[in-house]
Amino acid sequence: CGIVGYVGPATNTKALDVVMEGLARLEYRGYDSAGVALVAGDRVDVRKKAGKLANLVGEIDEHPFTDSRTAIGHTRWATHGGPTDVNAHPHRGGDDGKLALIHNGIIENFAVLRDELQAQGVQFKSQTDTEVVAQLLGTLYDGDLTEAMRKTVARLEGAFTLLAVHADQPDVVVGARRNSPLVVGLGEGENFLGSDVAAFIGYTREALELEQDQIVTITPEGATVINFDGTPATGKQFHVDWDAAA
Ligand code: GLU
Repeated sequence: CGIVGYVGPATNTKALDVVMEGLARLEYRGYDSAGVALVAGDRVDVRKKAGKLANLVGEIDEHPFTDSRTAIGHTRWATHGGPTDVNAHPHRGGDDGKLALIHNGIIENFAVLRDELQAQGVQFKSQTDTEVVAQLLGTLYDGDLTEAMRKTVARLEGAFTLLAVHADQPDVVVGARRNSPLVVGLGEGENFLGSDVAAFIGYTREALELEQDQIVTITPEGATVINFDGTPATGKQFHVDWDAAA
């Protein structure tokens, strides 16, 4: 339902704060669960909880994260699978704990893809349509998260905003969208992703709206946009001029 992503410079450790603040600003959209993933060394750590953001905050207090400069966060409005801790996002792809993904929307052809992945030996932990995307991305990952995302979205039908992180590319967050919004927040030496500008309005007013069927790769230095067919794209740049307090 709500999505936020962040990547900052190597010396920066505020990823968790940025993402939690973004999730709080997105609460108005309504949700039944929340979760975050942080890149931490050779792993991606995930904390997620059904219920209000306060439950997630409690979970993080109990099981603290290592400081990180790269994070993604999600508030879920369940469509496939009940509102449980396990079904909350982020979902992992693969068994090595290196990849995590969040999703807004619905994957119409998830059952076909799940059967295909199960036939390859993939074991599912949740009842969600989203985990199918995470596992597919894990299967297709071969050192380049953007390229794996491109191959993944080529297989998807439905509506989705997706964000993914991988521990082997600790300064990268990749996003993709179809029939569901995704906006980039352009900072200085740091960049943001959000399902709407509220996700990062506390940090930057310079934004880039992704158009239909586009993928964006953010690093601390910039944002690179391509179309699902791999051709270069730009998105639509704009300045957010409404009052953040409104
Ligand atoms: N369909 C996904 C799920 O049920 C995402 C729902 C959402 O947009 O929050 O987990």
